[in-house]
Amino acid sequence: MKLRDKVAIVTGAGRGIGKAIVVAFAREGADVVVADIDAQSAKETANELRTMRCEALPIKADVSDSTEVIEMVETAIKVFKKIDILVNNAGIFSSVSLDSMTEDEWDRVMNVNLKGAFLCSQAAMKYMKKQRSGKIVNIGSLAAEVGGIFAGANYAASKAGVICLTKSLAKQLAPYGINVNAVAPGVIETDMTKNWPKEVKESLLKQIPLNRFGTPEEVAETVVFLVSDGANYITGATIDVNGGIRMD
Ligand code: NDP
Repeated sequence: MKLRDKVAIVTGAGRGIGKAIVVAFAREGADVVVADIDAQSAKETANELRTMRCEALPIKADVSDSTEVIEMVETAIKVFKKIDILVNNAGIFSSVSLDSMTEDEWDRVMNVNLKGAFLCSQAAMKYMKKQRSGKIVNIGSLAAEVGGIFAGANYAASKAGVICLTKSLAKQLAPYGINVNAVAPGVIETDMTKNWPKEVKESLLKQIPLNRFGTPEEVAETVVFLVSDGANYITGATIDVNGGIRMD
């Protein structure tokens, strides 16, 4: 088991990619804070993890709310005494065109996707710095690299911000033994993408060399690697999990 005795906080872990990440962490022996804006899904996921002999703590937390984020981290510390891993996974999608994008719609996406990653990192790094160890993984997106194919500019820009935040955090936290990396998924089969128009999906599929969309579990395996000892010399990096739709 790669994560025995580790304590992890994963945001947006009630369903989708976040849920696959906490399941993979539990399998690898970690104890997990299952954080989500939806208390019910957090609770249900935590119950599933307990059947895997994982100490799972569900917490209702909106990552865009600094008070809830601080409470989430303080509760995690109270229960588990430390935080080894933070995964900033919570995110929301938007495909609104710039012509019709309101200021509220811009802020809504930025506040969750980018400000949320900042708030959670700031709250958790306080404890990681004291421990002089930690691993942070931010979930970016292919959209950050290409400006969005179906995604709106607010979503793409928020994820580009997440990639840059990853690099800034990596530089500032390296002296404390904290690694910060990002994963940039392509199109992954979750509730976020399931209602995309058929023609959009067909066109995307034609551009993917591996000729299929990804699974949440495939993203989770990359996150497991990045938070494991095997990735101790990797920081400030973004790993694509995109079936080859974009290659550097
Ligand atoms: P889902 O919509 O399936 O799941 C997102 C989860 O985050 C839900 O449980 C949701 O809660 C929760 N959430 C939403 N807003 C907040 C918030 N403010 N605070 C805390 N939790 C919140 O998305 P995915 O699993 O597909 O996406 C996970 C991450 O991966 C996101 O950051 C997304 O941008 C990124 N990503 C996804 C891709 C894909 O193709 N699916 C591609 C590239 C990146 P609720 O159930 O209440 O909505």
